[in-house]
Amino acid sequence: MLARLQVANVTRRFSDGTIGVGNIDLSVDDGQMAVILGPSGCGKTTLLRLIAGLETPDEGRIVLDGIDISAWEPKRRDVAMGFQNYALYPHMTVRQNLEFGLRTRGLDRDSRDNAVAWAAGLLDLEEHLGRRPAELSGGQRQRVALGRAIVRKPKLYLFDEPLSNLDAELRMRMRGEILSLHRQVNGTSLYVTHDQVEAMSLADMVFIIRKGKIVSSGPPRELYENPPDVFTAGFLGFPSMNLITGRLIDGEFRSPGGLTLRPESARAGKLPDQENLVLGIRPEDIAVSSDGINGEIVSAEDLGSSTMILVKTRGGEMIKVVTRGRFQAGSRVSILPDSARIMLFDGVTNWRL
Ligand code: ATP
Repeated sequence: MLARLQVANVTRRFSDGTIGVGNIDLSVDDGQMAVILGPSGCGKTTLLRLIAGLETPDEGRIVLDGIDISAWEPKRRDVAMGFQNYALYPHMTVRQNLEFGLRTRGLDRDSRDNAVAWAAGLLDLEEHLGRRPAELSGGQRQRVALGRAIVRKPKLYLFDEPLSNLDAELRMRMRGEILSLHRQVNGTSLYVTHDQVEAMSLADMVFIIRKGKIVSSGPPRELYENPPDVFTAGFLGFPSMNLITGRLIDGEFRSPGGLTLRPESARAGKLPDQENLVLGIRPEDIAVSSDGINGEIVSAEDLGSSTMILVKTRGGEMIKVVTRGRFQAGSRVSILPDSARIMLFDGVTNWRL
């Protein structure tokens, strides 16, 4: 079932004055997977709880398919929420866990059986329907929790860091499963995470939030390639973008440590001289090259297919570089940022220049 969600100018203030979210505006189209990405405490869970009806906005409206549901009880909203922890009933079997929500809604036995068979089939849980949660692996439990969210075929699916308890391998597999599930149920989904890898791999649209406000939004690849502000630039991408403060004089960037670079975007007087500037360059856009900036390798981390080296320049700047070569901490190296890939941000407003 398809649905369009609109969150219009929503603010939630807690009784102690904390602003959980402030003036949030976003919309998720029919069948889209939208990801809310932001650091701990930025208001992600509060936003989901507002949409689910577990919190009430102090200002603004939540609109589903053109209907203002801001004041509706959670039960009436036709919204399912998958939580950070599994929240399964330990004394019930997988089947009972899956059909619990259907029973409380008064569905008859045949409809319940059909719905459970459908969800169990999608999630590969048919063989485990008679087991209790304690008899399942972490990944299977996570699938049961997802099953509980999808079994009712709601209009809108909300996921609050559903993979945070899993190891890296299983997280990767579950990301794939969530995506294929999302496509198969053809639902509209809102997925909350602080993990930029999940945002990059799952989202049709990403909303980056910070301190209760949306700072940027767009398809993840677009935000990664063209971040509109320094926060988005630093948040999307792993290892994260190098951000170096300095100033611009005659198209040349100079850091307090004596680093000088000529960004292409500032060439030939394209940008005026500026005192307060942040230069951004992704670790994968810096090459190891003999005619570059000299420095010492402080650490070398093997990422499997590549190595991340942390290089300390003469002036004390720390620069991350992702390279295919093998390097030792303590050795000397020369690195060359790709001047065409350098981004410049205003150090006061944080906007891209
Ligand atoms: P995390 O990723 O750590 O779960 P989050 O982005 O989901 O964080 P929220 O749980 O939405 O963040 O919290 C947003 C802000 O609101 C935080 O500063 C939090 O301390 C505050 N907050 C949340 N619930 C309440 C409450 N009931 N009363 C007062 N402040 C609250």
